[in-house]
Amino acid sequence: MQKERIIIIGSGPAGLTSAIYTGRAQLNPLVIAGSQIGGQIALTAEVENYPGFWAEDKVPTGPELVEVLQKQAEHFGARLVYDEVVSVDFSNGSPFTVKTYSNEYQADAVIVTAGASPRRLGIPGEEEFIGRGVSYCGTCDGFFFRGKDVVVVGGGDSALEEGLFLTKFADSVTVVHRRDELRAGPALQKRAHANEKISFVWDTGIDEVVGNGTVQAIKARNLKTNEEKEMPIDGVFIFIGHFPNSKFLESELEMDEHGYVITDELMRTSVPGVYAAGEIQDPVYRQIGTSVGQGVAAAMQAEKWLSERE
Ligand code: NAP
Repeated sequence: MQKERIIIIGSGPAGLTSAIYTGRAQLNPLVIAGSQIGGQIALTAEVENYPGFWAEDKVPTGPELVEVLQKQAEHFGARLVYDEVVSVDFSNGSPFTVKTYSNEYQADAVIVTAGASPRRLGIPGEEEFIGRGVSYCGTCDGFFFRGKDVVVVGGGDSALEEGLFLTKFADSVTVVHRRDELRAGPALQKRAHANEKISFVWDTGIDEVVGNGTVQAIKARNLKTNEEKEMPIDGVFIFIGHFPNSKFLESELEMDEHGYVITDELMRTSVPGVYAAGEIQDPVYRQIGTSVGQGVAAAMQAEKWLSERE
């Protein structure tokens, strides 16, 4: 069994930031990066809202930002392995056991930054057109739909908030919702109803995303009458919730009813020596900037905890 001082699970902005900080603290961190380094930002076309990396003629892409973070982490001594955690055992306290597909580790401290994933509709065409008309992030991809007609799927706060954001670019935003009542809060509902570019299609599900290279239409179905219709459209933005990637932590850490790891203001989880940062514990902000801040805090607290035990 490989013995480590500290293991960081996940390689999104929170994980790589924790790696930079624990690396600089001479902890020689091991980052279990998952199958793809960078997490959700690796799939983001342009990052316009991460402070300090913007220029009028050069907005960084998600992968460019990930590359810098990775280089910075490795420069300070972090080691990255492309592997996925399948289970952990925190029940006996430190040292903790972390099992991946290909190895088993022991670590004195752990920082969990495994992130969250957007829920998918699971319909034909959805997967095929991701990045070519199907998106799960208006803030990331809205710019590419300037002058276009887009559909937003969902009736919660995210759907309306992102739908409102998309009206800055798109000519029209049609919210397709499976019921005739929105889940979103009243303030957002009011703003959405007042926006001339937004219209609603109620009681409607989507059966298929259709296109040829890029999205051209959706096949929609009224869930009350079963009537089907094809709606010509340039983009489909899906906001039907996120789920934290916390399945492997079940019964090991305290979580809320949605599976988000519960942390306190020092990024401590329910197990001393195990910290969490980023979207796995944050259903509210879900921004690169906030994840980076939480990654800093988790790393500093983990380092303090380790040094106090010596
Ligand atoms: P959410 O509140 O869970 O809403 C998801 C929406 O997607 C619901 O309208 C739901 O329909 C719909 N949906 C779920 N599964 C579906 C499916 N298979 N097919 C079609 N539609 C489906 O998720 P969220 O909007 O991402 O919000 C998550 C949390 O973050 C909430 O607590 C929210 O208040 C919070 N949030 C707050 C703000 C803000 O305050 N500004 C912004 C964003 C998010 P039903 O309504 O029929 O269930």
